[in-house]
Amino acid sequence: MTWLEVSLNVNGELAEAVADVLARFAPNGVVVENGVFFKDADDPGTSLDMVNVRAYLAVDEKIDDTRQRLEEALWYLGKIQPLPVPVFTPIADQNWMEAWKEHYKPIPIGEKLIIVPAWLESPDATRIPIRIDPGMAFGTGTHPTTQLCLELLEKYIQPGMDVIDLGCGSGILSIGALKLGARRALAVDIDQAAVDASLENARANGITDGILTGLGSVDEILAGNFAFKQAPLVLANILANVLIQLFSGGMGKLVSKNGVLILSGILQEQADPVCQAAEAQGFKLLEKRQIGDWVALVVS
Ligand code: SAH
Repeated sequence: MTWLEVSLNVNGELAEAVADVLARFAPNGVVVENGVFFKDADDPGTSLDMVNVRAYLAVDEKIDDTRQRLEEALWYLGKIQPLPVPVFTPIADQNWMEAWKEHYKPIPIGEKLIIVPAWLESPDATRIPIRIDPGMAFGTGTHPTTQLCLELLEKYIQPGMDVIDLGCGSGILSIGALKLGARRALAVDIDQAAVDASLENARANGITDGILTGLGSVDEILAGNFAFKQAPLVLANILANVLIQLFSGGMGKLVSKNGVLILSGILQEQADPVCQAAEAQGFKLLEKRQIGDWVALVVS
């Protein structure tokens, strides 16, 4: 089978809308990749603001028609917000899965961790590997919000701690926490696929004990549905407006006395409202970190 790659570099806000359009034409899925720039093999990488969205169309007898309809759909989207012209590249006789896998590189995080695409050997034996398959939809480790969380997790975790990972996605933060010495990590998400993926990814990382998963959010944890209701370290990498709502819904109660809450998924201009929501629940800002437009807050 030959494939026609369609690729666009857009800003983060447009990526989802463009991915939705491509998904209508590419049943195999769409790759949304946050740009990371590497100067050389030793460069830990710098996140770029542009996001590459691409998909692979099967070259069959309908390809010309498919391409035309796709271009039309993008043209309509471009009327709402200007879009770059899509770049089409034929990929001959090659498995596109393998082709895009070549784009991924291990990402060192903080001082101790390295995110390694599941099919690669870790290039750095001194760092603790977190193995993740970036083909998955959520929490691949390439996003700055996840990277910020992992850096801060590394800084604030102490061995033996219990951790709550609210909105666990792929489970990447729970895996990181357990590998950094957490006793237990409670990974919850409102999406059953995320709950399942977290358990699977933990196993793939050799974690058998300590990972607890559950479907739900703040309410379900506070209702006592899971093994514990509070932890000294709580991680929430969800969007700013959801974080603000969760504060009104009692997210603060998940943090035990003198505990720390790491908040991520916040755009620069949303940092103040999230901080105010935290302060309204009696928290104080300990630290703020930023990569590109994305901010993470640590409150206690
Ligand atoms: N923790 C991962 C994934 C973040 S993506 C990482 O850091 O990379 C955000 C996740 O939050 C998604 O999986 C989404 O399903 C989940 N989510 C969204 N709203 C939520 C809510 N109100 N409560 C719990 N999880 C939520």
